[in-house]
Amino acid sequence: MTTIQAFTHASFIYTGENIVQKDGRHLNVNDVSAIEDGAIVFNSKKIIWVGKTEELPIKYKKVKTTDLKNKKAIMPGLIDSHTHLVFAGSRASEFARRCAGATYQEIANEGGGILTTVKATREASVEKLFELALKRALISYRYGVRTIECKSGYGLDHDTEMKCLTVIQHLRKALPQMTFVSTYLGAHAIPHDQKKSRYLDDILHKTLPMVAQKKLAEFCDVFIDEGYFSLAEGERILRTAKKLGLKLKVHADEMQNTESTKLACKLHAHSADHLLKVSDKGIAALAVGNTVATLLPGTAFYLKMDYAPARKILDAGGRVAVATDFNPGSCYSLNLPLMMNFSALYMQMNLAEIFASVTSNAASALGLESSKGSIKRGYDSDFVVLPYERFEEIYYRMGW
Ligand SMILES: [Zn+2]
Repeated sequence: MTTIQAFTHASFIYTGENIVQKDGRHLNVNDVSAIEDGAIVFNSKKIIWVGKTEELPIKYKKVKTTDLKNKKAIMPGLIDSHTHLVFAGSRASEFARRCAGATYQEIANEGGGILTTVKATREASVEKLFELALKRALISYRYGVRTIECKSGYGLDHDTEMKCLTVIQHLRKALPQMTFVSTYLGAHAIPHDQKKSRYLDDILHKTLPMVAQKKLAEFCDVFIDEGYFSLAEGERILRTAKKLGLKLKVHADEMQNTESTKLACKLHAHSADHLLKVSDKGIAALAVGNTVATLLPGTAFYLKMDYAPARKILDAGGRVAVATDFNPGSCYSLNLPLMMNFSALYMQMNLAEIFASVTSNAASALGLESSKGSIKRGYDSDFVVLPYERFEEIYYRMGW
């Protein structure tokens, strides 16, 4: 039996109900659906009741209750819907060199860049990778993240990719207070020690079938860009994954426009991510489809690139999520509230758009919209109590 508990006198409870009703599109600031002086009743699994404190039903007045004294707000637990959580090795010295003027190509030619991470990840044991990933997940938890997507992709061979996906299974057992969504991203880059055609064969005929059979991932993701996987190769991988029962994500239109956002929409992928170079055709496809546009402003910041055209996507009617893209090369940050700050400052997103981007739209990007991302009776009780009176204080405080 799970104990029923309540929080009363929350300064606001942000349910996000309107956002869900509007399918996460064309949002105005009131769509965060704030209940002033709110109360919530829940057990360890589900939300049982939510409303104004003065309307709390008598039957819940005897349960274990915490009075928030109108000093703290409640919102759905944050959802970081795009991370590369599992890898080993440090690229701190490379970062310092890059900042001092070395180009990405120079670093790569010396065997640095992604190769550094691949080498360290291949050499690391499951235990070591787990220990590193667990520390990172706990940092994310402290930022208010309750659901986190984690990709493989730093093995670039069958065995290491399987090893990284196993680590995500271990995280689930170790941290039941968080939800881990597992994504196979074998097609993250071309391995340095194998021909692309051979590696593609391995992905299609060996790793993907085994990932599906062992249920090691819910999603398959592909990096489609110049110098990585072509649109046709990406489509082959994604179609194979779909046949095997996996859901789809695409690293799309980041460095160059390849019309991979359009492909993601055509294949009904749950999300198309990055989109720095998305075309008008890609935006039109997002506006009419269900594919979520997952924007990663921390990466644009870290690489000193232009931000994704968030306003254009939002005004066209696209659903936008924002995530950290936590990874060792292009965004070494787990601070999702900082990404919300960038979304406000550099992508001109309004309060409700930012709220939706880390709650219900992020839940949609992970196929979890019927249980997460909103505060509603029957939804998972993974909401967070903020140390602030209002939601917007999270991203007003830059990098806290
Ligand atoms: Zn990524």
